Amino acid sequence: MSYRAWFQCINLECGATYPLNSIIYNCKRCNSLLEVQHDTKQLARRSAAAWKKLFEARYKTTQWPFGSGIWGKKEWVLPEIADDNIVSLYEGGTNLFWAERFGKLLGLDNLWVKLCGNTHSGSFKDLGMTVLVSQVKQMIAEGAPIKAVACASTGDTSAALAAYCAAAGIPSIVLLPKGKISIAQLVQPIANDALVLSLDTDFDGCMKVVQEITKDETIYLANSMNSLRVEGQKTVGIEVVQQFDWHVPDVFIIPGGNLGNVSALGKGLLMMRDLGLIHKLPRIVVAQAQRANPLYRSYRKKFKSFEPMQAGKTLASAIQIGNPVSIEKAIRTLKQFDGIVEHATESELANAAELGDRMGMFNCPHTGVALAALIKLVKRGQIARSERVVIISTAHGLKFTEFKVRYHERQLDFPCRYANRPIELPPRVEAVREALQYALKRRSRLRV
Ligand SMILES: *Cc1c(COP(=O)(O)O)cnc(C)c1O
Ligand SMILES: [Zn+2]
Repeated sequence: MSYRAWFQCINLECGATYPLNSIIYNCKRCNSLLEVQHDTKQLARRSAAAWKKLFEARYKTTQWPFGSGIWGKKEWVLPEIADDNIVSLYEGGTNLFWAERFGKLLGLDNLWVKLCGNTHSGSFKDLGMTVLVSQVKQMIAEGAPIKAVACASTGDTSAALAAYCAAAGIPSIVLLPKGKISIAQLVQPIANDALVLSLDTDFDGCMKVVQEITKDETIYLANSMNSLRVEGQKTVGIEVVQQFDWHVPDVFIIPGGNLGNVSALGKGLLMMRDLGLIHKLPRIVVAQAQRANPLYRSYRKKFKSFEPMQAGKTLASAIQIGNPVSIEKAIRTLKQFDGIVEHATESELANAAELGDRMGMFNCPHTGVALAALIKLVKRGQIARSERVVIISTAHGLKFTEFKVRYHERQLDFPCRYANRPIELPPRVEAVREALQYALKRRSRLRV
């Protein structure tokens, strides 16, 4: 069977379409964002049961490229790509962590954390980058004049872009806000052979520059306004539902910055519903840092207006974004999914992340934002005890060790309630025994 996909303008009154191998990021007619549209009629010729069976058979198989969480769902993602052009680092298929202890502490029976950071470059950005770089490889093979792929980044996009491009032998260019990303995030594109440009501005400033640079068609734009990435990222919700034997959870909580990922989550779930794999939709909660909360402000006004803001400095550096590119898509998604937007202060996000760690997780600050939102919604009664809740954890905690070290050394400007400091001792058995006796007696119960 031959499936087809194309770019389509998200503005319903326009609806212009373009082939996926055109070098285009906005609608030429009305300048709106584009999205990938699939031939749903053709896809619907295969039954829901048959799709489930196919996806299950491919899940984590060694048969290349189908063992990838993305390419196991190839027909729903990029149906027309040649297998030879797929650039995959075996992304997706990540652990769905049962946060039993953390859930119990909040009075929840059914709390899960989707660990999207347990992947090649350490963040969910791999899910979209495999799709974008594969499409670029195919376009180069067809003779497109692309010399390099470029992005602006708060750290994780550049790490993923550099890794996939290096694996494929395609040059990459990354524009980073100087001094605003972690060392781990900075060293990744350096190690993976990217041309690294450090600009004395913030993410929004880098984004403006890269949009100008990529007007030259020989430099392809890899930011999430390029909707190819959304196609890969949309598999996350599908994969979670598959991991629950095709049962839909009640609530997803996802941290949001540029808002591509929440749009992607919604897109995958809608596709499943339209093709009959599921029959209800979950609620979606977007969690933002209070210092970079333009979506939250718009939500409080019932989305009647939206104003970009200057994002303040936040520990959740990957979502320090004041002018999100995918704002329209995100609002549309929230309206379809009975959405909620919640925000978290620096103290709330850091303490939530580290409370989670004390219960076996290893959270990045963005996952901390989502956990802080969860705590607030449970306290307010907006999430019920019996509901099955899934937190989208967006990056691996090891990318943010400076944050954790400062937290546990109590060097942040708020009370670090769950700090755990090493005890320095002389190397004598008696000293250790004494310290243990004291410390084990003193261990207090953790509270939210
Ligand atoms: C990119 C990123 C986000 C935000 O995703 P958006 O699609 O920009 O909303 C959140 N957390 C981490 C760790 C990220 O890298
Ligand atoms: Zn248009």
